[in-house]
Amino acid sequence: MQTRIPREKLICDNFINGSWVKGSAGHTDVVSPYNGQLIGTITHPSAQQVDDAIKAAAAAQKDWGKTPLKERAKVLFNFRNLLLENLDEIAHLKSSESGKTFEEGKAGLMKGVEVLEFALSLQNLDLGGKVEVSRGVFCEYRREALGVIANITPFNFPAMVPMWTIPINLALGNAYVWKPSEKTPLTSMKIADLLKKAGLPDGLMTVLQGGAPTVDAIIDHPSVKAIGFVGSTKIAKIVYQRATNLGKRALCLGGAKNHIILVPDANPDLTGIGISDSFTGCAGQRCMAASVLLAVGNVDHHIEKIIQRAASLKLGETMGAIITKAQKDFLVTAIGRAEAGGAKVLLDGRKAKAPAGMEEGNWLGPTILDMVKAGSEAATYELFGPIISIVRCNDVSEALKIENSVEYGNACSVFTSSGGLAERVAKEAAAGMIGVHVGVPVPREPFSFGGINASKFGSGDITGHHCLDFWTDMKKITSKWEKQNDSNWMS
Ligand code: NAD
Repeated sequence: MQTRIPREKLICDNFINGSWVKGSAGHTDVVSPYNGQLIGTITHPSAQQVDDAIKAAAAAQKDWGKTPLKERAKVLFNFRNLLLENLDEIAHLKSSESGKTFEEGKAGLMKGVEVLEFALSLQNLDLGGKVEVSRGVFCEYRREALGVIANITPFNFPAMVPMWTIPINLALGNAYVWKPSEKTPLTSMKIADLLKKAGLPDGLMTVLQGGAPTVDAIIDHPSVKAIGFVGSTKIAKIVYQRATNLGKRALCLGGAKNHIILVPDANPDLTGIGISDSFTGCAGQRCMAASVLLAVGNVDHHIEKIIQRAASLKLGETMGAIITKAQKDFLVTAIGRAEAGGAKVLLDGRKAKAPAGMEEGNWLGPTILDMVKAGSEAATYELFGPIISIVRCNDVSEALKIENSVEYGNACSVFTSSGGLAERVAKEAAAGMIGVHVGVPVPREPFSFGGINASKFGSGDITGHHCLDFWTDMKKITSKWEKQNDSNWMS
């Protein structure tokens, strides 16, 4: 199905204490990457409005934190059903603002629903425990809600990335403050409205629009206890430093430059599709996209299949658009620079035609660059578009050395039929998420998502079982109710 672009401009205000409030600190337009059409306007909140919003969140959290988990889960269960009922509408909206295809919009939301289902199972997870540590002496640990927490999200997954943290935090008893990307804010309206419809009390979901000034005001607010961030490495560092300087906990996920190591014995049925879809999915605008193909030995038979698959994609139907015109222009010039540096263009996305009637959109077809030099811009810089750079390597050791030399550390995949080689890559690659014959190795719940090195600042992971420590406080209780006759050092 083709993405439906909204006909009218949507006004995207701030969701404060259960109502939509016009921001009094200016506005910014939202443009569809599909056709350059104005589809919305966000209104920026003033510092006073941010303060009002977070105070209301803190007040609402007091009761929510005391509400039994089963009751909190009921609201989330209603929310899950509403998301599924509105799946197509949300997928159209998020695709029209982010440039995704309709199918990608739907898939991202379904991944969000999966995270929500994980949150619904919280009562079966590690929420506490009690052990008799000495005669008559008991130690217990309990997880407690933090209070108000905030999340700042990027343009490329307007629903999925926020859904990594919304359900789990509401289930754990926190109040959630969300600052969506100013490029893709429209989806936040739908999500906040559905949470209210699901029965979430006012104040527990807050949406504040805008850019750096809104983020700064949120981080600095004394009631905000923890900050989650997902976006570029440059901003992740800024947010991490600001929050931790204030003594707050922060977990900030940054950019990526993901590698695929390809060897001749790779499974031919899995390789062409797996690698092509990894660098072309979401038009390459995802932090788990393959960006560098480390081609070990003669793998031309596989590269042929990757080219065939990528060349079959149709812009506007099976591949989406680039978020802004400036970013599209940057990608075009980056391809030119790689070519000037000696790369050979095996598939040239610059020649791809815009879909009919969408000539004003930001279109670039899949691009495959061969003979790219290790250390060059195309091999080390996060371009964030449908471009894969092939670096030829003599052996796996050379491939791993190149992979290890890049500052990021989100994902690395290996395409091989050798279990031994797969295990070597899992051990030696400098990445938090490893794939074997899987081009986009995103772990599924209950496994957690997270990179290493310059792809993440802070400790722990933001989703899955391992996120519970970050989003809660752990309280330890030691108790004794009877005097014991025998000696006991814990008297
Ligand atoms: P971005 O860093 O430009 O923006 C992310 C968020 O930060 C937005 O909400 C934005 O409004 C806010 N922001 C921008 N400037 C700020 C400032 N000076 N101070 C405080 N906040 C500021 O990222 P983007 O372009 O929206 O998203 C693409 C990037 O996100 C890519 O680098 C991609 O790899 C990364 N990303 C990473 C993951 C991950 O899990 N590691 C997931 C998705 C996207």
